[in-house]
Amino acid sequence: MSETVHYQRVKEHLGTLKLHAALNELDPLLETGAREERSITLFLDELLTREVTHRFERRVAANMRLSGIPVRKTLSDFDFEAQPSIPKRAIDELSTLRFVNNGQNVLILGPTGVGKTHLAIGLAFKAIEQGHRVYFLTLHDLINKFRMAKERNKLHYLHSSILRADVFVLDEVGFQALERDDAAFLFEVINKRYVASKSTILTSNKSYGQWHEIFPDPILAVALLDRLLHHAATINIQGDSYRLKHRKQTGLPQLMPQEVIMD
Ligand code: ADP
Ligand code: MG
Repeated sequence: MSETVHYQRVKEHLGTLKLHAALNELDPLLETGAREERSITLFLDELLTREVTHRFERRVAANMRLSGIPVRKTLSDFDFEAQPSIPKRAIDELSTLRFVNNGQNVLILGPTGVGKTHLAIGLAFKAIEQGHRVYFLTLHDLINKFRMAKERNKLHYLHSSILRADVFVLDEVGFQALERDDAAFLFEVINKRYVASKSTILTSNKSYGQWHEIFPDPILAVALLDRLLHHAATINIQGDSYRLKHRKQTGLPQLMPQEVIMD
């Protein structure tokens, strides 16, 4: 068989195997390979690396799109000097994502505006960049989804999309008191992730001692905390709202209390 026939067959095979990035890179890599007299192993390594890299980037982009993260916030945008109560070392440790591989939870507690959601999203982005699947919901959204899914008899879909995520971010626990059914569903979600050793990042404006205020049944609150805290890192943030402080510094008018709550 002539070289041209082999070349055509390679192209066809790459197409059939859906190795599209490799197919696109074939000609330039063949040219460089011939010009620089590269070994066949090096050529194959480069060709396959392009395909693998392309697939990884596509997966990361899809995971980013499907994560439900509302705004882009990164850990490098976070001003740690403005919030000295946050142990930077603990955040550095978390950003290694060992907690994801070990199925540990992260609980970020503190008043409104101190950067809880920012940190949770920053960690979630890191996880996505490493190829993990993330699912972000506020507790309010979770409860709405639960009620809708229950009505439509689709609860198993909701459970499986939450369970499939490598990192589940549950934001804003504590703003609303839960009804009995909602609380039981939340417990089921947290318990399933606990049993499957999958990480959850949770933010709350309530300290653990105040959780009985959110739950209709204190026993459920204790059982939920038990699952959450078994393998967990807690980041306790004390201090003023970042925006409020920033406004004070820049001399802008102070926020009204209800605006702060909207954060
Ligand atoms: P929380 O979830 O604790 O209510 P957020 O994370 O929503 O607070 O923070 C409110 C706003 O202030 C966001 O826009 C966030 O990016 C910003 N912010 C808070 N703390 C910091 C910080 N230390 N450095 C940079 N931005 C911050
Ligand atoms: Mg928040």
